[in-house]
This record gives sequence, C-alpha cells and structure tokens, in this order.
Amino acid sequence: MKADSDTNLDARRTRDMLHDMVERGEAMACPQCHVVLMKKWGCDWLRCSMCKTEICWVTRGPRWGPNGKGDTTAGCKCGVNGIKCHPKCNYCH
Ligand SMILES: [Zn+2]
Ligand SMILES: [Zn+2]
Ligand SMILES: [Zn+2]
Repeated sequence: MKADSDTNLDARRTRDMLHDMVERGEAMACPQCHVVLMKKWGCDWLRCSMCKTEICWVTRGPRWGPNGKGDTTAGCKCGVNGIKCHPKCNYCH
C-alpha cells in the first residue's frame, strides 16, 4: 500500500501547488468544469483544455455567452460598443 499513499501525497502536493497559483493569480479554475488552468504569456484569452470553453483571463469568466463564439449576450462582452471588458485587458480574441 506504500505506493498508493505516495501517489496520494503527490496528488495533494499538486493540488496545493495549483491552489497557491490560483491565489497568486497565476492560474484560475475554469468557470465551466473547474479544472485549473495556467495563463499563457501575453494574452488575455485562453481555452480550457478539458471542456474547450473559451475563457477571458482578466475577468475570470467565460469569453462568450451560451451560444458560443460570437455570442455577446453573456461572457465578458469585450469590444461591444468599443468598450474593453476590463481596464487591464490586453486582448480578448
Ligand atoms: Zn473547462
Ligand atoms: Zn474579456
Ligand atoms: Zn477584453
């Protein structure tokens, strides 16, 4: 059973590390499936590797509304009426 508990410890360390990264703003949980995602350099847009939801990093929320790409009824609404979603937004795809 030793191997099992080692694996559990590793899993816990990984989880703690991801939690720390979220606290520091280096990672965030997907608003859809809650998997922890890391920020790619330079861009305020990312796609969840699990559920493929497009996410706006600066607002910590989905990029688009329920109808997917181009649906500005929800999501961060970046660029609607020429207004950015957040003062710190560099670029939402
Ligand atoms: Zn997801
Ligand atoms: Zn945005
Ligand atoms: Zn934006």
